[in-house]
Amino acid sequence: MFNSILNLLVSGILTLPWWGYLAVVLVNTQLTIFAVTIYLHRCQSHRALTLHPIVSHFFRFWLWMTTGMETKQFVAIHRKHHAKVETDEDPHSPVVKGLKNVLLEGNELYREAKTQEVMDHYGEGTPDDWVERNVYTRRSALGLKAMILINIILFGLTGVAMWAVQMAWIPFFAAGVINGLGHNWGYRNFEVKDASRNIFPIGFFIGGEELHNNYHAFGTSAKFSSKWWEFDIGWFVIRFLQIFGLAKPKRIQPKPKTLQSKNTIDTDTIRALITYRFHVMARYAREVMLPMVCEEYKYASKEDKAALRRARTVLVREPSLISPAQ
Ligand SMILES: [Zn+2]
Ligand SMILES: [Zn+2]
Repeated sequence: MFNSILNLLVSGILTLPWWGYLAVVLVNTQLTIFAVTIYLHRCQSHRALTLHPIVSHFFRFWLWMTTGMETKQFVAIHRKHHAKVETDEDPHSPVVKGLKNVLLEGNELYREAKTQEVMDHYGEGTPDDWVERNVYTRRSALGLKAMILINIILFGLTGVAMWAVQMAWIPFFAAGVINGLGHNWGYRNFEVKDASRNIFPIGFFIGGEELHNNYHAFGTSAKFSSKWWEFDIGWFVIRFLQIFGLAKPKRIQPKPKTLQSKNTIDTDTIRALITYRFHVMARYAREVMLPMVCEEYKYASKEDKAALRRARTVLVREPSLISPAQ
C-alpha cells in the first residue's frame, strides 16, 4: 500500500514519452502567453478588443493558476509604462534601470511598482467582481499551489519540474525579455519617442509581443504586425476566436492610403498626416534621407564614408534617443 502511494507520487497517474511532457509544458506556457497578450495587454490594458465572458473568465482563471498575477496590477503598471516610458517613473525601462535588472528581476520591478496610488490612478476599469476580490486577489497564491498539486498527481516528480519551468516562463519571457530586450535589441519600423524595438519579425514564441516597436507606435491596435513579412500569433488567435463570436477587435493599426488625384492640402490632409505621422516619417527616412546618404557616400572620402555609414541610422532616429557622442 505504502509502496504504491510512493510510486504514484514519483511517477504520477500519467506516463508519457519525454516529448509528451515537453508538449504539455509548451501548450501550458503558450496558453499563459495568450492570456497575457490577448487578455491582460490588448483587451484590459488598451481596450483594443472585447472578449466574450467565457474567454475572459477562462484567461483570468488560467492566469491565477499559472502566474498568480492580478489583472489590476498588470494593467496599472503597464499603462504607467506607456505613460511614463523611458523616464524615472517608468516601472521597467531598461534605458533607466539597466537591461540586466529588467531581464533578470522583472518580477521584482512589478512588485516595487505596485503602490496603491499607481493601482488607483492607472488600474481603472479592470474586473472587480466577487471572484476577483475574494479569490484571484485575496488568494493569489492559491492557484499556483493547486497547479503544483495537479502536476504531481498527473506526472509525479516530473510534474514538479514542469511546474517550475512554467513558473519561470512568464517572469523571464514577459517581464524580462519583452520589457527588457523590447527596448534594447532588434529593429524599428517607427520612430516613436521611446527606445522600443521589434525583437523579431515572426511573433510566434511570445504571443506577438516580439513586435514591441509596432505597438508602442499604435498602442490601441489589437493587431501588432505592420509589414507584410511580420507575423503576430496573438492576432491570429484573436481572428480565430472572432469566427466563433468570442472576440471582437475594436481598433487596428491604420494603413495609409495615397490619393494620386488630390493635390491640395485641407483639414482632411492634416488629420491624415497626424494619424499616419509614423508612416509618413518612416517613408521620409526611406525615400528622402537614405537616398541622400547614399548619394553623398559615392563622392565621400574614406573617413567620411565611415562617418556616413554610422550616420545612416542616427540621421533618421528620433532626436531624444540620440546621444551627444552620436
Ligand atoms: Zn514597452
Ligand atoms: Zn501596451
